[in-house]
Amino acid sequence: MASLARGLTSRASIANSVLRPYYERLIGPNKGRRYAHTHARAVEYLQNHDTDLTESQRTVREAITKTCANYSDEYWLKQDELKKFPADFHRALAQDGWLGICMPHEYGGSELGIAEAAVMMQTISESGGGMTAASSVHMNIFGLEPVVKFGTEEQKKRWLEPLIAGKERACFGVTEPNNGLDTLKLQSLARREKNGDYYNLSGQKIWISTAQNAQKILILVRTTPLDEVQKPSQGLSLFYTDLDPSVVEITEIPKMGRAAVDTNTLFFENWRVPANDMVGKENDGFKIILHGMNAERILIGAEALGLGYAALRKAAIYAGEREVFGRAIGKNQAIQHPLADSWMKLEAARLMIYHAARMYDQGYAGGEYANAGKYLAAEAAFEACERAVLTHGGMGYAKEYHVERYLREVFIPRIAPVSREMICNYIGERVLGLPKSY
Ligand SMILES: Cc1cc2nc3c(=O)[nH]c(=O)nc-3n(C[C@H](O)[C@H](O)[C@H](O)COP(=O)(O)OP(=O)(O)OC[C@H]3O[C@@H](n4cnc5c(N)ncnc54)[C@H](O)[C@@H]3O)c2cc1C
Repeated sequence: MASLARGLTSRASIANSVLRPYYERLIGPNKGRRYAHTHARAVEYLQNHDTDLTESQRTVREAITKTCANYSDEYWLKQDELKKFPADFHRALAQDGWLGICMPHEYGGSELGIAEAAVMMQTISESGGGMTAASSVHMNIFGLEPVVKFGTEEQKKRWLEPLIAGKERACFGVTEPNNGLDTLKLQSLARREKNGDYYNLSGQKIWISTAQNAQKILILVRTTPLDEVQKPSQGLSLFYTDLDPSVVEITEIPKMGRAAVDTNTLFFENWRVPANDMVGKENDGFKIILHGMNAERILIGAEALGLGYAALRKAAIYAGEREVFGRAIGKNQAIQHPLADSWMKLEAARLMIYHAARMYDQGYAGGEYANAGKYLAAEAAFEACERAVLTHGGMGYAKEYHVERYLREVFIPRIAPVSREMICNYIGERVLGLPKSY
């Protein structure tokens, strides 16, 4: 952390000099005060004066803002239209060491917490990059936590260093077409070859993001068939291995939004995977991936928040500028109040997300706040994006104003990595003590 933080101090001051003129153009000179000690005005681009940010969160926010300021809404719109993976954005973050924000020092990481990573992901999304920008790096930020926790020294060195340096990209293969959210029923099988050096994997996966652009995959498969285990959570194993398109058939799924970041079906038969690419012990895979789940929900929630604030920023600016019937449309309470309501809901969700992040960093392992934070953030962001489109009237439907892209992308955190319904099931059972409903 020390080296990253040292590096960031200087980047932060650059960010201030780059962005300050922008703020001032937008909201007028701030009369000698660097930051107001009230909440930022929602029309500011990536404001940094939330009073509850810690010093290190603020430093991350400023530095990421500086990088993101090079990738405008127009850039993201073009990537979306061209369906082009934002490799330059990924490279820029890797060059500044951001892909290792939560990774151990000895492999090139900064060892900051999920509270800082959440700020990073919120800021990336809030810059206008939305889920496209966030998903292009998301897996690298925390996806390899199972390797950090359960990998051998040799594996960590082999895998974490190229990932953090941006030389390799990873994708995550859990979901299967036949069982969806019922992960314990997944059917892809790995059988160990007689000499013990390789496993043979056969099966299929669906919705695997970035598989067209990743060199590696973290994949969960069965090593013991379901009918041979005592509990369905047993018998699953995790591998981190090369994703070779000449062996694995990777087919892109055309989808509603985030076109620049591919999502795919994978089909594989007799795919030989080295036994030393297994993470942790055979049959312990489910237990191992559970370790990363709360952090993933917190980060996805933070990404959703980013989109919500971005939409609100666009809506508030437009509502202040657009005149109809001889006055700004934002003078009408039917326009103004839903936006005010969205700001309050986003802020409430933000408090929950950062509360969950702080607890996670302090070692709390329960899932109620991470799940609830993700749920609330995704819902508040969805509503903010929808309202932003409606505030823009017909222009909300035009690509030029970007809010339609935000709305298409904000569905993702409502669905993945866990749906709203499954979060309610979790809260119903674990918090309210009600009978399991499924
Ligand atoms: C853009 C995108 C990217 C993705 N990226 C990845 C990735 O990189 N890697 C990966 O492994 N997966 C990925 N996913 C998959 C994602 O995690 C799943 O789509 C998600 O978990 C939902 O699973 P499903 O689509 O099979 O839904 P299903 O399990 O078929 O569920 C369908 C609906 O029924 C509801 N439902 C099901 N059972 C119950 C129940 N018991 N009670 C109440 N409601 C229920 C669900 O909540 C949902 O609304 C991605 C998905 C999307 C859309």
